[in-house]
Amino acid sequence: MEKNLSILGSTGSIGRQALSVARRLQLPVSALAAHSNISLLETQIREFRPQLVAVFDFDAAKQLKLAVSDCAVKIVSGMEGLCEAATIPNANMVLNAVVGMIGLQPTMAAIHAGKTIALANKETLVAGGSLVMRDAQAQGVSILPVDSEHSAVFQCLQGCHRPEEVSRIILTASGGPFFGKTKAELEHVTLEQSLNHPNWSMGKKITIDSATMMNKGLEIIEAAWLFDVAPEQIDVVVHRESIVHSMVEFRDGSVIAQMGVPDMRLPIQYAITYPDRVRSDVPRLNLASCGKLSFYQPDEETFVCLKACKTALKRGGLFPATANGANEAAVQLFIDGKIPFLRIGALVWEAMEHQPAVSSVTSVDQVLEADRAARAFVQEAAQKN
Ligand code: NDP
Ligand code: MG
Repeated sequence: MEKNLSILGSTGSIGRQALSVARRLQLPVSALAAHSNISLLETQIREFRPQLVAVFDFDAAKQLKLAVSDCAVKIVSGMEGLCEAATIPNANMVLNAVVGMIGLQPTMAAIHAGKTIALANKETLVAGGSLVMRDAQAQGVSILPVDSEHSAVFQCLQGCHRPEEVSRIILTASGGPFFGKTKAELEHVTLEQSLNHPNWSMGKKITIDSATMMNKGLEIIEAAWLFDVAPEQIDVVVHRESIVHSMVEFRDGSVIAQMGVPDMRLPIQYAITYPDRVRSDVPRLNLASCGKLSFYQPDEETFVCLKACKTALKRGGLFPATANGANEAAVQLFIDGKIPFLRIGALVWEAMEHQPAVSSVTSVDQVLEADRAARAFVQEAAQKN
């Protein structure tokens, strides 16, 4: 069946690349959504002619309505608008590329509307993984990974029909701009240094997450939900060149890896065209010109966010939602110049210690409340020192 897309977060790094894939494959786009970047939305509306566009910010939505009054497009706003874009009848696939926990409700809405989900928004799975996977299964909806590591694992698993054959998932991590640094060296790093990622050009939040290695921690939790594996079955290896995007070890000891140049259009396109593979204009991998590929053990004592996420996954319940919410708030404080770099990881741990254990997560409201509490905790703790 031809794909008809709704792209949430269309003005972001992933969203723009998803639209370039849609342009190349000439796929119809029925809905777009963003927070407030209406000048780019206007350009996208004029090119892709969606029926519906959600602008989260109410005032920006009003301005956009005026700017595109000559187009046959409905402009909506707020969470209700975002969910309307996620459930638009004409689309059969929702590509969720908004940043942060705000993506949870539209993901759930899209699942309930029976849409195939192409998921870049990892925070959704981290915070509400049990609910997302439970409802996706109940609705018979596929969650296709866009995150490059998870797309790699997903590709390595094609043809594997027995879960017991998988012994380990090995996620690769670039190590970010601060690989090999000590805690003392990280004490005074600046925002600019943290935003200087060696291999990928991405949105600000995920770039900071890569510098703290929180990103890899979130990806461990994301992998546990997507591939239904135990925390002990997920390992991380630092791979500086970002050529091997991740690996699966099978029970006979064989390891299958997926490789390619670091270009997000590849995993985006695979999620969109799955189960088919079609041509792309992504540059080809030339291993001889790569030279050496290197692999290292991650340093969890320095990059404490990685350990925090592993702990959150093992503890289960609302701990992942708490770790994620605390991190989102702490990263914003770091971007705003209010806390130093190393405080991000410390605050994630403190928020987790503050979170009471609950045995099971049964509702989205419960997740939203844990997220709210973690953010409030971080705001307050950051003010104290
Ligand atoms: P960006 O910051 O570049 O883009 C974020 C997008 O989300 C923008 O379109 C933004 O709109 C939109 N947005 C933010 N808040 C809202 C809201 N309340 N309602 C509607 N839209 C909103 O982020 P990235 O593209 O880098 O990342 C997006 C997601 O994909 C993240 O979860 C990230 O972890 C994941 N990811 C990203 C990768 C990458 O290479 N960039 C790789 C793997 C995963 P506006 O422009 O108006 O603010
Ligand atoms: Mg990734």
